[in-house]
Amino acid sequence: MGEDYILRTVMLTKLYNRVTAVDGVSINIRRGDIYGLIGRNGAGKTTLIRMILGVAKPTKGKVELFGGKDLGAARKKIGSIIERPSLYPTMTVEQNLEVHRILLGIENEKIVGELLEKVALDRARRKKASDLSLGMKQRLALAMTLIASPEFLVLDEPTNGLDPSGIKEVRDLVKDLNQNSNVTIFISSHLLGELSKIASRYGIVEKGKLIEEFSSAELDERAKQSLLVKVDNIKRATEIIEKDLGTKNYKVRDDNIIELFENGEKPGEVNRILSNNGIVVESICKSQVDLEAYFLKITGTKRDI
Ligand code: ATP
Repeated sequence: MGEDYILRTVMLTKLYNRVTAVDGVSINIRRGDIYGLIGRNGAGKTTLIRMILGVAKPTKGKVELFGGKDLGAARKKIGSIIERPSLYPTMTVEQNLEVHRILLGIENEKIVGELLEKVALDRARRKKASDLSLGMKQRLALAMTLIASPEFLVLDEPTNGLDPSGIKEVRDLVKDLNQNSNVTIFISSHLLGELSKIASRYGIVEKGKLIEEFSSAELDERAKQSLLVKVDNIKRATEIIEKDLGTKNYKVRDDNIIELFENGEKPGEVNRILSNNGIVVESICKSQVDLEAYFLKITGTKRDI
């Protein structure tokens, strides 16, 4: 309760005719989090975000922002990008920001220059918005939303359509805002590997439901569970694994590496047992179960998302 939570939703639900777009989602975001919301297209991410921002009305459930119930006041402290940024195409980068500053009644004129630097568009300040690359447009949109110094930034698929360098730029910016300007961030994506580089907590949505929440530390913990073992004699090694380690929880991969899903925290012991039985262990290492693999495991599907 209180100020520790920037956002809490309680059983938030949205029905569109017969489609339940969001189904009883209770999500908690604490101050300082970079919260990554993961889900396939159509899982309900945008609808959830629209309800949080007040653009869509919940069918059921409630939203609490900054520990209070005055959503109107709280939403003034939120910056967001939920659709393609709306920029004035014939104006320059700098003019777009300047107009936005005046419209918002922000008196600090220096903020435009500061933000141009922050989003690395200072050298493009005189370019027309219509001439910008998608990545630059996205950074300009971020600068626009930062003009009001938001405490909470909500970004729906901010890297959609960007090339790898554009993705990295947005990622670096998000990290910088979080670490150096104390901005709490809620970011949705279907790019799991991408989120795993910045998020401190994750929520997975599937068919409108929040099916799991975990921290990056918990993800690391789970990721430590498998060991990749390369040996000279696979058949004999698997017999020893079954007999002496007492587990059938392994598989022999196509590249002739044994993947051991238990004892991940004990590579030394696995090595000793195999070696004592005359097996040559050529290599043994912990495998990184990344976010994508983890997601596929818990949603039980190999379908691409
Ligand atoms: P995407 O990444 O494609 O935006 P998403 O996870 O954001 O996916 P939503 O856009 O929230 O998913 O959609 C969730 C479900 O609700 C989908 O089945 C979608 O067709 C439906 N839906 C969303 N908006 C509306 C609407 N305005 N009217 C009717 N159905 C809608």
